[in-house]
Amino acid sequence: MSGRIARRAAALLLAAACGCGRSIPPSERSVVLVTLDTTRADRIGAFGGRAVPTPVLDRIAREGTIAAEATSQVPLTLPSHATILTGRYPSSHGTRHNGIYRLRPEEETLAERLSAAGLATGAFVGAYVLNRGFGTEQGFATYDDVAVDRFEGGRDQIFEAQRTADDVNARVFPWIDAHAGKRFFLWVHYYDPHDPYAPPEKPGRTLAGSGYDREISYVDACLGDLLAKLRAAGVYDRTLLVVAGDHGESLGEHGEKTHGLFLYQGALHVPLLLRAPGSVPAGRVVSGPVELTDVAPTILDYLGLPALPRAQGKSLRPRIEGRDDGRAALAHAETLMPRLEFGWSELSMVRDGRFKYIRAPRPELYDLRADPGERSDLAAVESERVGELAASLDGWIAGTADESADTASRRTLDPDEEARLRSLGYLGGDAVHGAVSRAGTIDPKDGIREVRALDAARDKLAAGDAAGALAGVRELLASNPRNHQARITEILALIELPDLPRAEDAALAALAAVAPEEDARGVLADKARGLLASVFRLEGKNAEAEALYRKLLAHDPMDDGVAVDLVRLLTDTGRLDEADRILGTVLARSPQNGMALAARFWLETRRGDATARAATAAALADARAGDPPTLVEAAKVLAHAGDHAREAACYELVLAQTPRPDPEIVGALGLARMRGGELDAAERAFTTLAEMRPTDPRPVFFLGTIARKRGDAASARARFARSLSLDPTFAKAAEALRELDGAHP
Ligand SMILES: [Zn+2]
Repeated sequence: MSGRIARRAAALLLAAACGCGRSIPPSERSVVLVTLDTTRADRIGAFGGRAVPTPVLDRIAREGTIAAEATSQVPLTLPSHATILTGRYPSSHGTRHNGIYRLRPEEETLAERLSAAGLATGAFVGAYVLNRGFGTEQGFATYDDVAVDRFEGGRDQIFEAQRTADDVNARVFPWIDAHAGKRFFLWVHYYDPHDPYAPPEKPGRTLAGSGYDREISYVDACLGDLLAKLRAAGVYDRTLLVVAGDHGESLGEHGEKTHGLFLYQGALHVPLLLRAPGSVPAGRVVSGPVELTDVAPTILDYLGLPALPRAQGKSLRPRIEGRDDGRAALAHAETLMPRLEFGWSELSMVRDGRFKYIRAPRPELYDLRADPGERSDLAAVESERVGELAASLDGWIAGTADESADTASRRTLDPDEEARLRSLGYLGGDAVHGAVSRAGTIDPKDGIREVRALDAARDKLAAGDAAGALAGVRELLASNPRNHQARITEILALIELPDLPRAEDAALAALAAVAPEEDARGVLADKARGLLASVFRLEGKNAEAEALYRKLLAHDPMDDGVAVDLVRLLTDTGRLDEADRILGTVLARSPQNGMALAARFWLETRRGDATARAATAAALADARAGDPPTLVEAAKVLAHAGDHAREAACYELVLAQTPRPDPEIVGALGLARMRGGELDAAERAFTTLAEMRPTDPRPVFFLGTIARKRGDAASARARFARSLSLDPTFAKAAEALRELDGAHP
């Protein structure tokens, strides 16, 4: 063999070994980051999962490298993504919970760095918690988020707004087509495995197993579609692909159903996979703890770009390439959710290659190698190891906590409010002092029992048993007055009863309860304020409600829910120009915002602007948005305009929002369908109505009308006769029968 041929053979062998044709220089690589929400590593085949097939992820693992023990730094979506995108710990970037914190503009993100390096940037997220405004949009030229198109149940429901991985892909694919010729950074977020577990059908993939497992399988299939698209666009092998879970899911382990309250492996152990033919070795497994803080530094390293100066994670490249990076492999995590929402102790943890220490009122130590399910707490018997890991955790907390990162957080009370609460006797009382003296002493291991009681109360409230719900939360609050979630449920139950004076009282008490907790950062203070404003509105105390709305907007000008509430109040009190101005800002930000569209509908109604009102009614139907009263009114407007398809859509939306269908709405839907020529749909509606009202002659009469329209005289005659037998005085049925007999004697 000549030297040249030998060299070529060696090159071919090398190429075969890394599973690629040619090596792409770092300066030509694109980056695709896929984050899988709520995804446990142990559900993925490549990580030892056996529950469901995950062929797409398994293939990425074969063609690339996986970190077998990747750990989420916080089991909450927004904080974890903030960590992935900055390479920094939650206590450092300051984004420590969903909804109430935002990633601040002064934090430098991977997208900003890659954008500055000339890559086109696009992000497509699957859930409201990552919507524009929460800060993860920094650096992305395209940021495609979730339309807030619901009114159902008010503001709380916005957090449920999400879309499927197929819906996300449908938005991503045109972007890939448009950017295939350029270098790009694409971030795709799939939210599906988050509860509730209800995966859509997926052609070509049989979904089996529990609801959660089926979601994992569904997302795997959708990831396959994304990779096929990248392949078809000719960019897949030029791309560094990184797939990471943001956190896992407890699935009932240790008493937790979902995630956020505990730091056990079910919620922290996430998949992390990298693939870049020619750069990232195929089939390699990095063992030992790896953090999600390492994701951004690793991506920058593989692209040959300098690290983010404030990143706390490190590139995994040395470990992937089998070179020791000289650092002790540790992973850390925190969760403030137990304290912020339930008044329990917060948690933090550190783990090395084998042992895991959880700081709590009763600290825990687990041998992850011998006891991966964390069933046997060794803290009492391994006090020396506890001491070492506790000291290491102390060092981590001291080294990462950034007080200034919290300065952007909201205050709990302003001086006016404090004076008012004090004058009303809410501050300085024993109830609050008693609460504070117990601050943070409840171990989440014990507190988790409160969640079951709270869930039971909420179920009662949802089932219409406000009194039962109230009794349940009162019992809970007697043992833990700092359970803020219980306080919120108490206020809701009192509104539902209704007992508005006591609801007002409970809201003020809730506000007072969070006031002494300087570190609670107003988590539920604003929620209590929002509910208090709702109570004021219901009591007709518009001036008080308005003051609260303005205060909430001053705290958070991006809170569209509050802005819309204020718009409605201004509309009701005749201040239409200001209402219009505020609404314009909200709709410019999110044109599909259902609450805002509904508010615009009522503003135009108040103005008597029939043309604009009709257009907004159509927009409500198209956005599939609005509360039932608005939708019914919009349906009437659309019927008047002869737009029966949209009229019917409005009624269907109303029915989708009501647990027990209202027969009037079912009938209105049937008529809209009939007038729109949708005879099958009309027949379904009237059949339902006939079952709901078996003695009512009208639904059967309309079923006869449908049969007649179809030219089925025999069926029409039978139905009209049946209608007449239900009510012999029902003239329309008698007349229809006569007409039929006249037409066909
Ligand atoms: Zn998440």
